[in-house]
Amino acid sequence: MLVSNLNQVDLISLSLITMSNKLPKPPKQEQRKCVFCKGLPLTREHIFPDWLKSVLNIDFSLNKVADRTSIDFLPDKVIFRPDTNKKNGPLFSHKLLIVCAKCNNGWMSVLQQETKPILTSLIKDNNITLTTDDIAKLNLWIVMTTMVAEFDDEAKKRIPLAQLREFQDNKQVPKNWKIWIGRNPPNNDRHTHIHHDFIEFESLQYVKKYAQTTMIIMGNLIMFVMSTNSNKFFESYSNNSLQYLKQIHPSSSPIFENSSLNWHNLPSIAEEEILNLRNMLNILDM
Ligand SMILES: [Zn+2]
Repeated sequence: MLVSNLNQVDLISLSLITMSNKLPKPPKQEQRKCVFCKGLPLTREHIFPDWLKSVLNIDFSLNKVADRTSIDFLPDKVIFRPDTNKKNGPLFSHKLLIVCAKCNNGWMSVLQQETKPILTSLIKDNNITLTTDDIAKLNLWIVMTTMVAEFDDEAKKRIPLAQLREFQDNKQVPKNWKIWIGRNPPNNDRHTHIHHDFIEFESLQYVKKYAQTTMIIMGNLIMFVMSTNSNKFFESYSNNSLQYLKQIHPSSSPIFENSSLNWHNLPSIAEEEILNLRNMLNILDM
């Protein structure tokens, strides 16, 4: 380590160590626990489930995490960090060590299995009718996947851990989350995960406002999520490309005509609007 990287306390300890000629003990790293339940042991798990490979008919070597844009509002400056985390390798190969075996093989696996037929139909653009129960399951799957996928770049993780713990307890969409779905143009076999985040600090330790948007595209299905602790964030987006998507949470009841949603009644979204959605946070005014 270069001396210039050491702070004053380090320098004092270094001089004491030099004097006593003993090597310092490495700082004990806190053992990582399950992000949902704090349990152990952790199991390495795919961000996007393996079964999606058989549903999406695509060349996986071409699909990567596309875009992670950040805007950091520090007390004395604003840092805009566009597109910083282009990882190599197919998106489906990304695995994380953040979830315990009990969660992974328990409620998370149950949610995957329950949502699989719904997701499969939407990804393949089958003309299905989604019931309120289907929509509820889809919402939970989107929340779970959004939460897990944020850990792909922890420096840009904005959803508080407390929300993950609460979600594991009550299996409800957390407060201040909005979720939309939309139809990709037909025959589109892409798969993308786009995460943008925003943070404003009150001081160097205290976060005043945060927001994240996640867009996951799988075949013909577009899923779009916003979560924040600032209502002003939602107000900023009342009039934009989101109108081409269908908001599925929160929604008044009955959420759709006859309490169901016919998938093919949703119009396909133009490529231009998908691009606008991708770039939303870049024009953010909070
Ligand atoms: Zn767990």
